[in-house]
Amino acid sequence: MTDTPLLALSGLTKAYPGVVANDDVSLRIAPGEVHALLGENGAGKSTLMSILYGFYKADRGEIFINGTKTEIPDSQAAIAAGIGMVFQDLRLVPALTVAENVVLGVEPTGRLDYLDLGTARAQVLDIREKYGLAVDPDALIENLPVGVQQRVEIIKVLFRSAEVLILDEPTAVLTPQEVEEFFEIVKSLR
Ligand code: ADP
Ligand code: MG
Repeated sequence: MTDTPLLALSGLTKAYPGVVANDDVSLRIAPGEVHALLGENGAGKSTLMSILYGFYKADRGEIFINGTKTEIPDSQAAIAAGIGMVFQDLRLVPALTVAENVVLGVEPTGRLDYLDLGTARAQVLDIREKYGLAVDPDALIENLPVGVQQRVEIIKVLFRSAEVLILDEPTAVLTPQEVEEFFEIVKSLR
């Protein structure tokens, strides 16, 4: 624990027409902590995380990263601030490989055919070793079970140097066996 939290939310409020989704929410997260945000459907969990990831703008409140007040107007800004998000509905390209999906959107040319896949594969293998995320970089996404696809999403976020990893209802799409493996991954990431 440090005195300055890695991430702090202060008084975040967000209303949609007719409903206040987040009402004055404050939260402090230190490095190495795992937090679970609990609440029934419609409680505002996804909204709060979407604000952190730059999808929605809060009506009020502030976000601090390492003690510095930070604006997060879009997901590029979130990634630049070290925040990564794995969505409930996984968003990989089925016809591409694991390595291709991991680097998609980061490759400097913006064109997959110019991509240095050798480097991408090496980096995927590196992240895999470091965090025990078992996955074959050359496998096609469409051939992988959902639990492994989720691992690819996590690798994708780590590849972008995320320090805060947000997972929206990560166990909802998993089998009981996959849930156990997922918790092992979370322990390892911590
Ligand atoms: P949770 O993730 O905890 O289920 P949400 O953040 O998705 O909760 O939703 C919180 C409230 O905001 C709900 O009442 C939901 O209907 C409403 N809501 C969520 N997203 C939108 C949106 N894009 N437009 C309008 N209302 C929304
Ligand atoms: Mg939700």
